[in-house]
Amino acid sequence: MGTKSVLHAYAVHEPGGRFEPFDYEVGELTANEVEIDVLYCGICHSDLSMRDNDWQFSSYPLVAGHEVIGKVSAVGSGVTNLSTGTLVGLGWHCGYCGHCHACSSGDQNLCQAATGTIIGHHGGFGDKVRADAASVITIPDGLDPKCAGPLLCGGVTVFNPLVQYDVKPTDKVAVIGIGGLGHLALQFCRAWGCEVTAFTASESKREDAMRFGAHHTLNSRNHDAIEAAAGSFDLILSTVNVALDWNLYLSTLKAKGRLHFVGATLEPLDVNVFQLIGGQRSISGSPVGSPQTIGQMLDFAVRHNIAPQVDFFSMTQINEAFDHLKSGNAKYRIVLSN
Ligand SMILES: [Zn+2]
Ligand SMILES: [Zn+2]
Repeated sequence: MGTKSVLHAYAVHEPGGRFEPFDYEVGELTANEVEIDVLYCGICHSDLSMRDNDWQFSSYPLVAGHEVIGKVSAVGSGVTNLSTGTLVGLGWHCGYCGHCHACSSGDQNLCQAATGTIIGHHGGFGDKVRADAASVITIPDGLDPKCAGPLLCGGVTVFNPLVQYDVKPTDKVAVIGIGGLGHLALQFCRAWGCEVTAFTASESKREDAMRFGAHHTLNSRNHDAIEAAAGSFDLILSTVNVALDWNLYLSTLKAKGRLHFVGATLEPLDVNVFQLIGGQRSISGSPVGSPQTIGQMLDFAVRHNIAPQVDFFSMTQINEAFDHLKSGNAKYRIVLSN
């Protein structure tokens, strides 16, 4: 009893700080926990927001990292679905309460008592990470483990709405923002069978958007072009974290269309309610997905050759990698390798 071990990680000690080597002690695994040897860990924009305490709920020392790909190195006594050596992934959540209405309904990602991998818990920027087995996903054959990390958070975040709202292959879908989330959204929506339009502010991303699967692009700085697209889309996925002229975008929805947020804008939405009432349009948002949806998304990604475009850094270059993310030059996700 009482065996302790030391895990080696990188932590920031204050908002906006640099990551420094950080060792922390852990006790024996609980019955339902597993320990994962981290092979790769993606850097998500949320890691940057958490580093800088943008959302006011970071706790320090903060070991971020919630797009983990690794091998199970130890399992708790009650774990039956995973064994040592299995290639697995871990995303935004590292545990669920397991018995609330959301959990019992298969919506564990909506569990109000879920544990965030980097919220009051040490994440994947290190040699090992721990998580409840229920939140750990087996990586299917055919997925390149080097690039798979960003699918565990970014990927499922843009895939989940397609499942939740029963999006049809005949639907016309638009994606706002061609970045870490948007370049994955374009790939998933295209493979889903939809007619896909990318809203993009930079001409330089136009070709990339087409390469990721957009059939059309619309310059989001061209007011007239957007006005001309009135009544076009069944679904708009917003992946940006800045305020836009939402009423202009609402006008591009068909009747019964939906403007859906997966990017977190901190500014309140300025919305003309008549746009919603007149066309029975909806505004909604969603977080990552349930473990089942993550598994489904990974299978779909294998089948359709969907993969994030990744800039690689070694784990020891974590601060350079964050500088790269913050500069806005990452194309389009970043992965750290051990
Ligand atoms: Zn994330
Ligand atoms: Zn729950």
